[in-house]
Amino acid sequence: MKVMSHTLGFPRIGVKRELKVALENYWSGKISKNELLSVGKMLRHRHWKQQKDRGIDFIPVGDFSWYDHVLGMSMLLGNIPERHKNKDETITLDTMFRISRGDCSDEKSGLASDMTKWFNTNYHYIVPEFTNSSSFKLSWLQLFEEIDEALLLYDNVKPIILGPLTYLWLGKVKGSNFDKLTLLNKIIPIYVKILLKLKERGVTWVQIDEPILVLELPENWKKFFYSTYYKLFGYTKLLLTTYFGGISHNLDLITKLPVQGLHLDLVSEKCDLSLLNSFIPKKWLVSLGIINGRNVWRSNLKKWFVKLKPFIEFRDQIWIAPSCSLLHSPIDLNFEARMSKEVKSWLSFSLQKCEELSLLKNALNNNVKNEIELWSQPIYDRSNSNLVNDILVQNKVKKILLSDVKRDNVYSVRSKKQKKRLNLPLFPTTTIGSFPQTQIIRNLRLDYKLGNISFKNYQIELYKHIKSAISFQENLDIDVLVHGEFERNDMVEYFGENLNGFVFTDNGWVQSYGSRCVKPPIIVGDVSRSKSITIDWITYAQSLTNKPVKGMLTGPMTILCWSFLREDLSEKDIANQIALSLRDEVLELEKEGISIIQIDEPALREGLPLRCSLWNSYFSWAIKTFQLSCFGVRDDTQIHTHMCYCEFNEIMDAIVLLDVDVITIETSRSDMELLEFFKNFEYPNGIGPGVYDVHSPSVPSVKWITSLLEKAINYIPIDRLWVNPDCGLKTRNWDDTKCSLENMVQAAKIIRENY
Ligand code: GLN
Ligand code: ZN
Repeated sequence: MKVMSHTLGFPRIGVKRELKVALENYWSGKISKNELLSVGKMLRHRHWKQQKDRGIDFIPVGDFSWYDHVLGMSMLLGNIPERHKNKDETITLDTMFRISRGDCSDEKSGLASDMTKWFNTNYHYIVPEFTNSSSFKLSWLQLFEEIDEALLLYDNVKPIILGPLTYLWLGKVKGSNFDKLTLLNKIIPIYVKILLKLKERGVTWVQIDEPILVLELPENWKKFFYSTYYKLFGYTKLLLTTYFGGISHNLDLITKLPVQGLHLDLVSEKCDLSLLNSFIPKKWLVSLGIINGRNVWRSNLKKWFVKLKPFIEFRDQIWIAPSCSLLHSPIDLNFEARMSKEVKSWLSFSLQKCEELSLLKNALNNNVKNEIELWSQPIYDRSNSNLVNDILVQNKVKKILLSDVKRDNVYSVRSKKQKKRLNLPLFPTTTIGSFPQTQIIRNLRLDYKLGNISFKNYQIELYKHIKSAISFQENLDIDVLVHGEFERNDMVEYFGENLNGFVFTDNGWVQSYGSRCVKPPIIVGDVSRSKSITIDWITYAQSLTNKPVKGMLTGPMTILCWSFLREDLSEKDIANQIALSLRDEVLELEKEGISIIQIDEPALREGLPLRCSLWNSYFSWAIKTFQLSCFGVRDDTQIHTHMCYCEFNEIMDAIVLLDVDVITIETSRSDMELLEFFKNFEYPNGIGPGVYDVHSPSVPSVKWITSLLEKAINYIPIDRLWVNPDCGLKTRNWDDTKCSLENMVQAAKIIRENY
């Protein structure tokens, strides 16, 4: 038996973000559709060849997408929301963009479909829409064209499709409520047609992704797995593919399904290979996901060799693979010219991961170990590196975790002292932190970064922007001011750049959604703060006004969720190191006389494990981590937090336990109905429900904001209610910002008159 290798999918965006550039040029009319199509084709061919050249045996096809692969599946199945259908029922590339981006020329029926997080990654997919009259039809044949393209060049072509149960699970019911599972009968025949067409092309293996098998599924969903897969049996061989978690809790179900192979993610959860061996039918192909597809670290092949060797002896057919699609990894480490050689020797991006698979494959097939030993050596060297270890930090974390990190006194005691110190009116007005990021500000930061201007001159220029933001807010008569965050490119990157333990890439882009990519920092070592980060900007802003200026920090859980994390330390330990570093900043802000400090945690919800049964243990450390970041502040220092993009009902318990003095949240799109949860949970502290949507292009009227505030009063006692927008204003322009905030302040004043 020979071990083979494959990948579960490759990043589409291109190492220089070629797809992003082409898409945006196409959308703005700068290039034609044919030009866009040829960029896509060039990228597909390049990525297939790069994988083949590195020894990957089965080439993935169907992982490419112009916007999102879940939307691609909707198009293949002909599941197009009624409002986006062409009159002649044709489905084209522009249909895809209309569904994903909306059509602003058509306010009524141009509404884009929702977008949401792809499991617990930072990739976002377009949510399929289902109604009880949804119909399905094999449409949008791009998948087959791509397969034909690949078959001309390669023998082992392995198509990838999203499985029917996961596809249904990810979609949303629109209109009248009904059970989505009733649609299976209509969907399965289309899947059969797809498999038939693949069979006609001589395809042997199809990767059918069912990542929901890592979740704790309701019984009726489990039941439908059997009946569905019986109907899909007999066309091509099916490699049932799971990722983002272990499946031991669903092994009973999975091993009875009529498929020919199973892919397991062996990275995201520890698993006992000998146990798996006894459960998985002997004649099945087992694909072992051993290389982390969603992190950037070099793999310890030496360890895997030892682990896999006995397992493969028992099996007929073994493939090795990354744990999940490489979509979530940057593409090529060789494009990092500025990164130190030492750090580079610890890392591995998508192409290097393909090389790792080949190294391990050769070692297993030929029983030679010298190459993998050489490859794994830097991992051992790293554990002694000065860049990684900081004993002081490690001891500090150990010590602090033994103590209780709650505030000294309860909210009712603190709030009295804060009221006295701050002397704010009822319904105090504030903003969430950032003000418009104009080109002038971006250029200024870039000039400083490139060394074109000195720090002194940079500071002088930034001070000017801060000064004008302060007078802007004073003129509007806002009660609690912000400095504007002009120094920040990104709320996580800025803190990473100013803390020890982080490194940054030049080209480590990962697709977030559509043409949007992020470049997460990499935490390589123990995190600490050796210099002030925000003090200069905040204290300067405070020196200009008698009104309180909020200190503005990104919270530890958000920095954690939006970075690549080291694998030699638990998430909790990394989070605590970040929290302790931020705490130094918080205490310094307090010492400098700052009376309100906001610690943003928009990603607190994102860190939730996929399985609900693990939520409580996540919350218990996540809450403690947040509290650690402001542990030790005085009673009369007011701690705020801000959260957005989240299902608050799922995390209400945690929000109550956080015990911040004020939380500002995104609510305007829910018409304040979200506050129902806060009322039901008897949320005891201050709260600022966003009174207007910062993403919407229109300026909210005084009347609209007043009516929202009147609604909010039904849920929240007036002495705890704040007035603020939904989120930061960095993406807006100054004119809109001025009009919107003017109306917001006016609405607050109108409401105040009644009390
Ligand atoms: N303080 C940040 C800002 O205003 C918060 C951003 C966020 O919630 N995503 O930009
Ligand atoms: Zn926000």
